[in-house]
Amino acid sequence: MERESLEVDVLFVGAGPASLASAFHLARLIEDHNKTIAAGEKSGERLDPTLLVVEKGKEIGSHALSGAVIDPSAFEELFEGVSVPDPPYDAKVQSDALFFLTEKRSFRLPITPPPLKNHGYFVASLGKLVRWMAEICESKGVEVYPGFPAAELLFDGDQVIGARMRDSGRDREGNPKPNFQPGMDVLASITVLGEGPRGTLAGQAEKKLGLQSSQPQIYAVGVKELWKVTGTIEPGTVYHTFGHPVDTAEFGGGFVYSMHDGLIDIGLVVGLDSENPRTDAHRLLQDFKSHPFVEEILEGGELVSYGAKAIPEGGYYAMPKLFASGLMIVGDSGGFLNSQRLKGVHLAIKSGMLAAEAAFASLLCADHSERQLKSYSEGVESSWVRSELWRVRNFRQSFQSGLWRGMLHAGLQFLSGGRGLRDPFPIEAGHTRMKKIEESAGEKTLPDQFEGKYAFDKLSCLYFSDTAHEEEQPSHLKILDSSICDTRCGEEFGNPCQYFCPANVYEIVQDAAKDRLKVNFSNCVHCKTCEIADPYQVILWTPPEGGGGPDWKQM
Ligand code: SF4
Repeated sequence: MERESLEVDVLFVGAGPASLASAFHLARLIEDHNKTIAAGEKSGERLDPTLLVVEKGKEIGSHALSGAVIDPSAFEELFEGVSVPDPPYDAKVQSDALFFLTEKRSFRLPITPPPLKNHGYFVASLGKLVRWMAEICESKGVEVYPGFPAAELLFDGDQVIGARMRDSGRDREGNPKPNFQPGMDVLASITVLGEGPRGTLAGQAEKKLGLQSSQPQIYAVGVKELWKVTGTIEPGTVYHTFGHPVDTAEFGGGFVYSMHDGLIDIGLVVGLDSENPRTDAHRLLQDFKSHPFVEEILEGGELVSYGAKAIPEGGYYAMPKLFASGLMIVGDSGGFLNSQRLKGVHLAIKSGMLAAEAAFASLLCADHSERQLKSYSEGVESSWVRSELWRVRNFRQSFQSGLWRGMLHAGLQFLSGGRGLRDPFPIEAGHTRMKKIEESAGEKTLPDQFEGKYAFDKLSCLYFSDTAHEEEQPSHLKILDSSICDTRCGEEFGNPCQYFCPANVYEIVQDAAKDRLKVNFSNCVHCKTCEIADPYQVILWTPPEGGGGPDWKQM
């Protein structure tokens, strides 16, 4: 098969904050370098590399799920001394609070713990922010291609030499249709992976090059809705909750972030290291919204958008090796997240900047080897990123023993600079912790009822994600051994994919009096939960044809 190929100098995979910050910072370093050469202030060669960002979503921002509370410090560092349009923040945080919820009541904690204080920060739509960043990148000469899903990392031995885009125009069986187009090979001296959590190409690199971390990465899934309400909550209000409806054996909680014009982000995060095979983040969110505390905020409002995304929570010890020959990993793909502060955007941006500085040095000396790109990891280690992550290096691990022990241990870590009782604190991979169905009988399951005013079933919510995929294409969800799903998984775990998928992709149907797994791949909102939580690890998420997936509203 003939494939087109395109040669660039630096390829950025994924148009999230990490990749875009990296592309911008590199373009700026090159521009400054060329100016000083032109002014005769230093000797050397001009650089004129091609920088390309590819993104699987149909538009920049359509896969960027988050109403987030942004710590603006990294943006300030990124754009220091440069004139750019103001960031499209939605509201400055005016008040914040932490609540403990029982089934019917809410208790505001007298003080908000320092890591959850958000004064001076901004509530923002991540989708709007990345669109703004992409425009600034383009103004600096960076090429940005949406609708280009990178499916495979290309190697020459152990050297990463770019990425292959996904083919388009194949039918369900994989046969070429009349509109078939082989995915292009983008050949690059340096490839920067910023695909978000559980990146497909980052996973390939970790396996082939042995980049795995010393501790397993653990994830949560965040399920989020955007609501338009009638002024029940002031713009810039940030609430976090713990307790109901998340079981105290699990890690998780709710949030409400208020933006402009009555728009609010409301969501629930729950650990994907839950022991309960029936843990269902979508249902927990519906239960959260049915709590009187939240119902009051939603009064008279309407649902605007729905989505879900995995969150890498393992912290410092769960970060992979961040570089190899021709390769760097940034942002969520590299585990840059502070789970104690519930923040990752500022870390993602800084990781991108540090990768850009390593890429710049590498372009200057035309050396893209592992030895040269090691300077990225050294930059991380000597920056504030390391200090921030080091202080919380054992935070998430201790919550595998339940909420109360986790909080006690978090206090101990706070006093001991992150050390706690043991350092590193042991942790189990999330999917290995799921209990068999008979061992978990009696554990809390939620009623299968949705009242249709504030709480909705999965398919109704899915409608608000504007998810669409070309139906005539091979499923992008590869079940590596479907015999496990049809028999063993049902008996042992009760087919937990029916619960943990927030988009009703996995259904158990009766076929010739036998249970069979049906995969409605076109419902997929690209959260990656199934690949992470599946107890047998037989689900492989791959990128679908370009432009497929959710299209989250950016209001
Ligand atoms: Fe998320 Fe997997 Fe369901 Fe897609 S199929 S929505 S990635 S859990």
